[in-house]
Order: sequence, then structure tokens, then C-alpha cells
Amino acid sequence: MSPPITSQSRYETVIGLEVHAQMRTRSKIFCGCATQFGAEANTQICPICAAFPGVLPVLNREVVNMAIKTGLAIQGQIRLLSEFSRKNYFYPDLPAGYQISQYELPIVEHGQLVIASPLDQGPKKIGITRIHMEVDAGKSLHEGIQGASWVDLNRTGTPLMEIVSEPDLRSAAEAGEYLKKLRAIVRYLGVCDGNMEEGSFRCDANVSIRLRGAPILGTRCELKNLNSIRNVMRAIDYEVERQIELIDNGDSVIQETRLWNADLNSSRAMRGKEDAHDYRYFPEPDLPPLRLTPERIAAVAATLPELPDAKAERFRTQYQLSDYDAGVLTASQELADYFEAVAQQAATLGQPNPKVAANWVMVELGGRLNKENWDIQQTPIPAHHLGQLVAMIQQGILSGKTAKELFEILFTEGGDPLQIVERKGLRQVTNSTAIEEAVDQVLAAHPEDVAQYHAGKTKVIGFLVGQIMKRTQGKANPALVNQLLQARLTRQE
Ligand SMILES: [Zn+2]
Repeated sequence: MSPPITSQSRYETVIGLEVHAQMRTRSKIFCGCATQFGAEANTQICPICAAFPGVLPVLNREVVNMAIKTGLAIQGQIRLLSEFSRKNYFYPDLPAGYQISQYELPIVEHGQLVIASPLDQGPKKIGITRIHMEVDAGKSLHEGIQGASWVDLNRTGTPLMEIVSEPDLRSAAEAGEYLKKLRAIVRYLGVCDGNMEEGSFRCDANVSIRLRGAPILGTRCELKNLNSIRNVMRAIDYEVERQIELIDNGDSVIQETRLWNADLNSSRAMRGKEDAHDYRYFPEPDLPPLRLTPERIAAVAATLPELPDAKAERFRTQYQLSDYDAGVLTASQELADYFEAVAQQAATLGQPNPKVAANWVMVELGGRLNKENWDIQQTPIPAHHLGQLVAMIQQGILSGKTAKELFEILFTEGGDPLQIVERKGLRQVTNSTAIEEAVDQVLAAHPEDVAQYHAGKTKVIGFLVGQIMKRTQGKANPALVNQLLQARLTRQE
């Protein structure tokens, strides 16, 4: 694969993404059928979602709330009046022969997402044109019965949000960042599980190239069948290279839909890309226009959780974490909650040092989980146990080496951290002679603080303890340090 387009190359890549996010409602968008993934084929259907003649759809209120939530989270405008339309096309897994979607009046418009752009090396705003609600189709299956295809309609009528970006993305890497951010947001909101492998968070990419600085967009191709962020990025790189080759050879790009094949690391043309007029959209006659009140939108706004950007900002100030650490730890709600529980547990047991807690969560635990191919929800170490471990490091009970030993035991066997330390003899030998030496050295080095102490400013003791801990490389037991320091100061009086 050739290197991605850089700022030096003749061409500029233009990418817009369409994400279909399956909403995590218990029931479908227009009927009461369950939406559970993995149920036996054709067990979650009724006359409405199977599109029997004469049935009427009834809009699921929760679907609307979730769309509003998502719209607010991307700083979009929520339309007080939106409407559903019929998008007409035939497909074996679409029993109605049309999809109920939103066309001219979508529920959300003019949003945006800020990504960390690898190209610009800084934050970059990506416009979000619209979010609309629509029904999912069923699934055509081509295996199971020899020589036959069949249809599973369980998924028909499952609510989807289509989230359409502006063509603001300029590289595969930016597309990857955008998807990670968007997925984090829908997961934080609890409106979609973001699972690309199971197809509940699907992405189509519209890709074109143009000569750098050209005022109009080049002909685009739509890429489908992208079931991971990595595949989205690979498919875009491949497509850019394909289009450059075509244009450099004097050919032109044909507007079409192309299917990505991850195994072959290439794509092939699937069909000519339709334009909107091919679908003969018209307002859905079975559903009234959707009218919202400012009060309803405000009520939904009140339920919004702290979102990734805001949380990262808080982590930077509250825990003095770097941009990088704050970004990593807020990638998911679960990871952020876990880190905060570790940091708080460590803080209640000793001197709080959130950076130490952050390192243990990201480096030690993160690395170990990666090795097992587990995510944070599957961690065998409860947060309060890791918090105890961090506290014991800060108290000088554990050295870096014994902390890792304890960590491994907690990860593989579990158990109470303090009991394990005692049982395995991991506690650092506390040598009072060595600490006394450090106390003497620190007192000799800071006569003015000692004088302040004797003048009644007992607060300086915290500073002196800190200096002694530093001198003993944090290995001294803080309780013992305190005790010896107090004794020495009293003797001086
Ligand atoms: Zn149904």
C-alpha cells in the first residue's frame, strides 16, 4: 500500500462518513417486538414489522428521546418539526418494499464533533450534516440450507440513527478518529452499543479525491462492508490509491458503491450508486409529522451524562493528568469510572497521587488486559483492590517490584491485597536506622523550616515528611517517618 496522501502531494482526499447506529431500545421503532440480538430467526416479528397490509406504525417515544440526546451531544439543532418519509426500493429483506426514514426534515441538523486530527496535529471540527431516524431491514442469509437463500426478519423495524458527516475528513486516520469519538459518545449516552462486528454501528464511507485547491469535489465512491474501524481506514487508503491511479492514467472515477473485502484487502464494484431521486421519497402517509416542544428537549438535555470531552477536561484539572492520559482514560465510560474509583480509593488511604493511579490503570492493567484480549469490563481486579495496591506503593509498603508481584497475583488469583502482602511477605522491610538518617539529613538541609516548626508553625511537618520520602525514594513507611520525625523535633526542643 502506498503511503497516505500528505500535505505535499498533488491530490487532496475528501471523505464523508455515514454511520448507522442501532439504538438500544428494548422494542422496535414502530411496534412492540423485541430487538434482542442473536435470537432465533424470525421469532421477533409481528404484522407491523413484517409489513402486512393494513397495519399502522406507532412511533416509539424512546427512539425520539435517544435521537434528541445524540443531537444535543453533538451540539446539533433539534428540529421542532420533523417528518418521516418513505424511501422506496426493493430488497428481499425489506418486506414493505420501502424503508420508513427521514428525508427533507430530519430530527437533527448542523452538529459537529471535535477530533484530534493526526494531519493537523491538533483539534479539528468535523461538521455533522444531520441525524435522522429510520428502520433497519432484515437479513438475507445464504447459508444453512443447501442451495437456498432465506430471510431473517428479526432485525426489520429495529430503530436506527443515520449520522451523516460533512465531507470534512481528509485522511483515513481522521476518519478513524471521528469514528472512535462518535462511538464513544453513543456509548456514553447509552443509545447504541457501538459494536461494529455485530453490525450495530455500521459505517459507509464516501471517498473522492481532487487536485489540491480545486473548488469542486471529485466523483465519489461509496465504500460498504466495513466492519471495524481498522477496515474503514484500510478501505479508504485503498480507494484513494485506486482513484489516484485512475486519474493519473487519464481515466475517470465512476460513481458507484464498492464492497470492501478485508481478506483480499481490496474492493470491488457492487452497483452504480443511486441518487436520491431514484428512491422516490415522499412523506410517510401513515405517520403524522413529529412535533417536539422546547420543554421536551430541555427534559432530555437534563438527562445527558458528562461526555468524553468534558470528562477529559475535568480529569486534566482535577487529577492533573496530561492531555494524553486524560484522552486514554475517558475513551469509555467504564474505563473512566474504573480509574476514578482507583484514584479515590488510593486517596482515602494515603497521599493522593492520581498520576500513579493513572499509570497503573493504563500501563499495567491496560497492558495485561490487552494480552488477554479483554476490555475493562472483564478485568479480574476490582477497582478498590487496585486502589489499595496504589496506596501501598505511596505508603512505601510496596516497592515497584513487589507491587508488580502483587498485581500479578491479583490478576490471576484474586484475593485481598493486604492479606496477600502479609502472606507472601511482600511488605518492605522498614529500616528505622535508614529513615533516621534521612530525617537528620533533611533537618540539617532545612534549618529555616525547623525554626518555623519550633515557632509554632507545625504545618511545615508535611513538607519535611515529603522531603524525607523523596530522600528514601518513597520506600520509607510514612507512619514511621512521621513518628521518627516528631521524636527528633521534640528532642530538639
Ligand atoms: Zn413487530
